[in-house]
Amino acid sequence: MISRTARISRGFKLQLKLDIIHCRASLVSLPILVPPQRAAQLPSQLRYLHQSLLRLNTTTTATSSTASPNKLTQEQLDILNQERATDQVDVCIIGGGPAGLATAIKLKQLDNEHGSGEKRVIVLEKAGDFGSHIVSGAVIEPQAFRELFPDATGADGNDENIPLPEDMVTLVTEDNMKYLTSNSSFPLIEPPQLHNKGKNYIVSLNNVVKYLSEQAEELGVELYPGISVSEVLYNDAKDTVIGVATQDMGIDKSGAPKDSFEKGMEFHARMTVFAEGCHGSLSKQLINHFKLRENSDPQTYGLGIKEVWEVSPEKFKKGYVGHSLGFPLTKESAAYGGGFIYHFGEGLVAVGLVIGLDYKNPYISPYQEFQKMKTHPYYKDTLEGGKCISYAARALNEGGYQSIPKLYFPGGILVGCSAGFLNVPKIKGTHTAVKSGILAAESIYNRIRDQEEVEEEQTEEEMEDLDEEEQFFKEITTNPIVLSEYEEAFRSSWAYDELYRVRNVRPSFNTPLGVLGGLAHAGLTTMVTQGKEPWTLHTKHTDSAATELASAHKPIAYPKPDNEITFDILTSVSRTGTYHDEDEQCHLRVPKQDLDAHAKLNWEKYQGVEQKFCPAGVYEYVENDKKELGVEFKINSQNCIHCKTCDIKVPSQDINWTVPEGGDGPKYYMT
Ligand SMILES: Cc1cc2nc3c(=O)[nH]c(=O)nc-3n(C[C@H](O)[C@H](O)[C@H](O)COP(=O)(O)OP(=O)(O)OC[C@H]3O[C@@H](n4cnc5c(N)ncnc54)[C@H](O)[C@@H]3O)c2cc1C
Ligand code: SF4
Repeated sequence: MISRTARISRGFKLQLKLDIIHCRASLVSLPILVPPQRAAQLPSQLRYLHQSLLRLNTTTTATSSTASPNKLTQEQLDILNQERATDQVDVCIIGGGPAGLATAIKLKQLDNEHGSGEKRVIVLEKAGDFGSHIVSGAVIEPQAFRELFPDATGADGNDENIPLPEDMVTLVTEDNMKYLTSNSSFPLIEPPQLHNKGKNYIVSLNNVVKYLSEQAEELGVELYPGISVSEVLYNDAKDTVIGVATQDMGIDKSGAPKDSFEKGMEFHARMTVFAEGCHGSLSKQLINHFKLRENSDPQTYGLGIKEVWEVSPEKFKKGYVGHSLGFPLTKESAAYGGGFIYHFGEGLVAVGLVIGLDYKNPYISPYQEFQKMKTHPYYKDTLEGGKCISYAARALNEGGYQSIPKLYFPGGILVGCSAGFLNVPKIKGTHTAVKSGILAAESIYNRIRDQEEVEEEQTEEEMEDLDEEEQFFKEITTNPIVLSEYEEAFRSSWAYDELYRVRNVRPSFNTPLGVLGGLAHAGLTTMVTQGKEPWTLHTKHTDSAATELASAHKPIAYPKPDNEITFDILTSVSRTGTYHDEDEQCHLRVPKQDLDAHAKLNWEKYQGVEQKFCPAGVYEYVENDKKELGVEFKINSQNCIHCKTCDIKVPSQDINWTVPEGGDGPKYYMT
């Protein structure tokens, strides 16, 4: 093991290095950074200016993404290829969402209570601040939080309540489920999974995550926000994960190092925990590399788009939770999905739409469907007279039980939505993410403790020629932890049982029975058999493969925004506070960054599906007579809000979402 002094001095140097990187990231973002809630409130002329600035930046980026890389000088190559600094830690967690932070908190609780308190547990998070890349509903269940903080007093001083600060949670007081036609609504019988009244809480999950990060820090977890993790590190045989590397900072759009260049760092760890959330960029690679999906269905996804509103006091019903099916996802927009509206805090309302990404019609725009949904009286009546203060979008897992991959591989594991533990009919994944983090931490802690006991028994001769760092490296490369007990623990947990019980709900809508047949089958399995039915429906296709040719559909005409209830996409993007340096490499990669080749694969067949599914206006097909197709494909990567939809849905599967520089991306507020 590494000595305490070595750990402290290494931790200090690391902090200093990461602080420098972080500070640089913040400075770079200053020029156009208007907080989301304020950008939306700017007077119209300033808002126009703000949008123009965004457009200006995006145009520059679009040009940059088509530019061919300059030939680099030897000096530049030497700078880029310099050796990375390395740090050794016990547990390295990628992603500071509910799953990653629950893992970190539980690990340090165990270490502080039963161990030396010296285990180095680090969390690397790409958002500039913990919570600011988190998008959720969110109605959350308390059980996993009670397990994480068993000694904490619950909200209102009642131990049965959720152990989170009172001003962060709103107890659900009313549940509603409606079927919407274009102008009316009919009550639906709620499946038991959607009962929230009196037991679950409405929160802003990004606030909860911020709170969890504070708890983690108090326990001694090392937290590094503003750090994008870009690479998985393997041993020479490539059969073991030995850690990760962080993204280089300060590379310009042509690939050359800027004056601000800062080489990324390597973190070598006994155990690397991937907690990147839904469709994580590294988790995706690991699932392929270790064939973790060999015995499961393909993962399928939904896209969740939401806004937060301040509503008039007479419209506010604190604790109200509403869900809807039907409009607008009918007729030519037919798709699996539904809307939600949650009244929480002091006069705030979260309103959103989740749409299954297995929709067929490439003309569907999830963003426009969401805008349309708000014009329905069920939603409009509440929002009218209010003010939209925040906008966000994020993919979520819909594959459920059948799509859970193998959870471990030598040196690492997947937790939370990186693995795909969302309960689809509940639209809840926070409780299962936290639970998986707790189980992961318990398994890791026990295994490291056992391994240390064995190490102490090893004869000195075996390691005599090696210093501490070399011993550590030898251990993780040749004798990695293979944490099968984590998967066993998860499969024996209430979280797994819960996912098993609802396994047939989502696939009910992919059968030849149609929507009504799907509703009937889903109703049967949730209300009658409650998961005890002896069959399991399977999903065979990915969401990208479900997209049909444009020639089989007619274009959809969406109404113009009224700027009161509905908005254009750039106004919405301005409410996310998203920022990427205009002079940085485009993080949305297509092969050789050849945008014409991408357009050739997609334009004629799908008529611009990318510009429709992206909820941030990143992709554009612009008329251009000089191009063979008559259109030019552009990537306005500046606008990206990290929802991952393009990587999931593009039919040609040639868009690879990679991490941009640390600290880039949205600065979400109350989402
Ligand atoms: C619209 C919507 C509504 C939802 N509603 C609910 C609800 O009502 N109730 C509920 O319980 N759940 C809900 N969910 C699901 C819930 O939000 C997720 O299940 C939960 O957030 C999963 O937690 P996680 O920690 O696994 O992932 P996330 O919360 O996604 O956190 C992952 C973190 O990892 C970071 N990260 C990712 N990759 C990297 C990298 N390479 N380097 C560094 N950092 C990285 C991200 O920035 C992020 O902070 C909803 C989700 C959506 C999208
Ligand atoms: S570019 Fe991709 S990840 Fe970024 S906002 Fe658009 S669809 Fe989402």
